[in-house]
Amino acid sequence: MKDVKDVLNKIDGYRDFIIDVQTKMTACPAITPHEKGGLGEAAKAEVLLKVLKGMKFDEINVLEAKDPASPTGVRPNIVAKYYGQDRSKTLWVMAHMDVVPPGDLSLWKTDPFKVVVKGDKIYGRGTEDNQQGLVSGLLAVKAMMDAGVRPPVNYALLLNADEEVGSDYGIVTVLKKYGKIFGKQDSFIVPDAGNSKGEMVEVAEKNMLWLKITVYGKQTHASTPQNGNNAFVASSHLVVALRDLYKKFNKKDRLYDVPNSVFEPTKHEPNVPNVNTIPGRDVFYLDCRILPSYSNKQVQEEVAKIAKTIEKKFKVKITVETIINDSSKPTDKNAPIVKLLTQYVKQVYRNHPKVQGVGGGTVAAYLRNAGFPAVVYSKLDDTMHQPNEYSSIKNTIGDAKVFALVAMNLK
Ligand SMILES: [Zn+2]
Repeated sequence: MKDVKDVLNKIDGYRDFIIDVQTKMTACPAITPHEKGGLGEAAKAEVLLKVLKGMKFDEINVLEAKDPASPTGVRPNIVAKYYGQDRSKTLWVMAHMDVVPPGDLSLWKTDPFKVVVKGDKIYGRGTEDNQQGLVSGLLAVKAMMDAGVRPPVNYALLLNADEEVGSDYGIVTVLKKYGKIFGKQDSFIVPDAGNSKGEMVEVAEKNMLWLKITVYGKQTHASTPQNGNNAFVASSHLVVALRDLYKKFNKKDRLYDVPNSVFEPTKHEPNVPNVNTIPGRDVFYLDCRILPSYSNKQVQEEVAKIAKTIEKKFKVKITVETIINDSSKPTDKNAPIVKLLTQYVKQVYRNHPKVQGVGGGTVAAYLRNAGFPAVVYSKLDDTMHQPNEYSSIKNTIGDAKVFALVAMNLK
């Protein structure tokens, strides 16, 4: 009990440390090298390694992912581990080092890569996404170190590259090439999404299926439709027919914010540039967010069936290409990490946290698919990717307390 109080009190005193680490990180724009002018995470990793080496970690390692586009030829992923009393299990806090570009600079009131502190807010690109979560994870372990407390199991930070553009050089490579660093009984906190009340404890995502649908008819002059076959008309009927997916896949699961599966036509490509031509080709996209109790394959088969009926009725040819096909196993809402995290969120913030699923997709899906329980949690104002992005010092401290309490109680 005294230990716990001591650790929480220490976290309250870290404001200067938070600002210092945020300032140093923000000054190294870790934009993907696959974007023009992007330098990758190397400089930011250097800055972080310096900070980590100044603390009492038992192990610090850099796991490299080869990437010829990076000026250094590799993308760094950092692991810093603080041993627990039982070294066979680890509680991981996983955050990412990369940031998205600042976007339109005229919309920023301050230099995106120079931290400005105003009261509780730290402004700069990356300060919230994902430096806030990273710093919270760091403060939790710093406080245990400073108070001389060893948690029941290991506590480790996993700081990844490449989260913003698909994670190939980040968690995907870490799992594939360095998977041995994880134990079967490990659990994960991913502080990379949340809301301003700090009430979203995310444990599941819907499957994601994106389809590109092309309808081929026959192009002709608009005054003589009988000489062609209007692909736009057939395509429009297809869009309407696809609404039947809602009836066919109508199960509900209250765990999810939107409790049913969703099948929405979204993007529509331009067809002909002029008014007096009947389009012979029409392209649109369907964004499906599917409850994990259905398989993406079931939906693909149903789409094919519906497309067939339209082909027959309108004498067109239809192709369906899959652009994204992701599914993610949910984390058990009764897993110890979920129970403890929810309990301590309530204790620290005196709010009403809700265990829930979302429409997808976060980086936690990779962990869940690899069989690990993973909870996405953060209290944040959701300014990520926007101009004038900021992080809240209060939330950074609150979340650090939650993570420290989980760490000191997870066995
Ligand atoms: Zn993020």
